[in-house]
Amino acid sequence: MSAEIQRNKQQAVVRGFMLRCPSCGVGKTLHRYLKVKDCCDHCGLELHHASVDDGPAYFTLMVVVAVIFPLFAIIYANFDPNPLVVAISMMALATALALFLLPRVKGVFIGLQWASRLHGF
Ligand SMILES: [Zn+2]
Repeated sequence: MSAEIQRNKQQAVVRGFMLRCPSCGVGKTLHRYLKVKDCCDHCGLELHHASVDDGPAYFTLMVVVAVIFPLFAIIYANFDPNPLVVAISMMALATALALFLLPRVKGVFIGLQWASRLHGF
């Protein structure tokens, strides 16, 4: 009964976004960009239980599309840009945004799994 202490989901999400351990907030959850560490360096929490599959990739894609598509509309509604310049700059922005968000979203998923005690956490 004492093992079922409520875990703070909001704190786990924030720590996951910061790429930190959902339990202690100090150790890192990922190494080599997207690889989940076996355990936290600081508190020893076993992180190999995390099973996020393609969820972070799909969620990241949705966020990137939700940011990029309105930008196209705003740019073409207010300016008369060269389409090639817009296409190249939007591809670069989309790539940079996806590379920035993907590990953070994966950290959020791991934090939510830990807070919800899923997959052996
Ligand atoms: Zn930790």
